[in-house]
Amino acid sequence: MRKGLALLGATGSIGCSTLEIVDAHPDRFRVCSLTGGRNLQRLLEQVRCYRPSLVGVLTARDAEWLRAELRDDAIEVCHGEEGLVRCAAVPGADITVSAIVGAAGLVPTMAAIEAGKDIALANKETLVTAGPLVMAAARRRGVSILPVDSEHSAIFQSLQGQQGNAVRRVILTASGGPFRETCLADLQSVTLAQALNHPNWSMGQKITIDSATMMNKGLEVIEARWLFDLEPRQIDVHIHPQSIIHSMVEYRDGSVIAQLGVPDMKAPIAYALSYPERIELPLAPLDLCRLGQLTFSEPDPKRFGCLGLAYRALELGGTAPAVLNAANEVVVQAFLDGLIGFMEIPKLIASALDRHQVQALDSIDDALQADRWGREQTRQLIEAGEEVAR
Ligand code: NAD
Ligand code: MG
Repeated sequence: MRKGLALLGATGSIGCSTLEIVDAHPDRFRVCSLTGGRNLQRLLEQVRCYRPSLVGVLTARDAEWLRAELRDDAIEVCHGEEGLVRCAAVPGADITVSAIVGAAGLVPTMAAIEAGKDIALANKETLVTAGPLVMAAARRRGVSILPVDSEHSAIFQSLQGQQGNAVRRVILTASGGPFRETCLADLQSVTLAQALNHPNWSMGQKITIDSATMMNKGLEVIEARWLFDLEPRQIDVHIHPQSIIHSMVEYRDGSVIAQLGVPDMKAPIAYALSYPERIELPLAPLDLCRLGQLTFSEPDPKRFGCLGLAYRALELGGTAPAVLNAANEVVVQAFLDGLIGFMEIPKLIASALDRHQVQALDSIDDALQADRWGREQTRQLIEAGEEVAR
């Protein structure tokens, strides 16, 4: 029986890599639904190729355009958040690949869980915004949350076969991004093009900026806290510029188990889709002798203020991580739009977090409300900053 996939965010970096895996294994996977945001032309090509029964787009206008292009009654096109939710929970799918970017992934991912789908989770913002609620819903529905993020896949792989509570800590590795060695004074004036030029990974714009600030690692610390039920002090971060060791688990006897591989997201995506099996992938083999060395260092807190902010949000608990994430989404967009400088990113997020009155996180509505508050507050902070600059 082929496994049915619901694919949210099909036109993005993770979405396209997922479809490459489907291409390599048409006997194993079939596509039940696809969703896309802005790149409608690409979505149209994907729909023609994979023929899902349901497709989701952002607006009614996009849906009309797609229907007219497709001229195919067997393929239903829906739109908006309601459409995303339907695609996430589409009948016939066994696993939902959550690969939308940002907190917009939360509601559809929850809908997939409630519909009893296993989740291949790329959208880390879902766990940052509402981690304890998402994990509780998955337990209640008996579905698996399978990590796609390479670090969490590495931890998940390094935990296979372990019994009991033997983990001392996990070590998330981070490439350090393009500014690992840029001197602090020069960081003030780095350009968008420099920030988008990631040394090891090719990814969507938002996560590429998050990698340059290391907020990506901060979000991953929070993701690991919920995925693996760890205390924040059990989660460490090492800079490892080669991105070969994808993360490690240290056990109570001092043994450390790591997962290694070439940096290509197809590997962790495929593991999430085929778990507990492993499938063939057309990737270059890892050649450690050619690489020669793997190096490690501690992240510099002055350079990477966002990492400390993520730990702080975890410590504050409740709605704080949702606000951290919302503030980050807004400032990253502002940086992409040329409205703020690179070093304003951590400052603005810290200000939003400082202004937040932390509330308990009892429902998804609490998380969504904190998300809205964080966005609004951060927009105001950016506008106030522009006033000062003028
Ligand atoms: P991307 O920007 O390349 O793609 C995002 C996808 O989501 C696109 O299909 C886009 O159309 C859609 N989308 C964006 N905003 C939307 C909205 N509001 N509503 C509906 N659809 C929307 O992003 P990506 O790099 O593929 O990352 C996707 C997720 O996976 C992110 O959460 C990211 O942190 C995570 N992730 C990505 C990588 C990677 O290598 N790219 C690695 C680890 C984790
Ligand atoms: Mg990652």
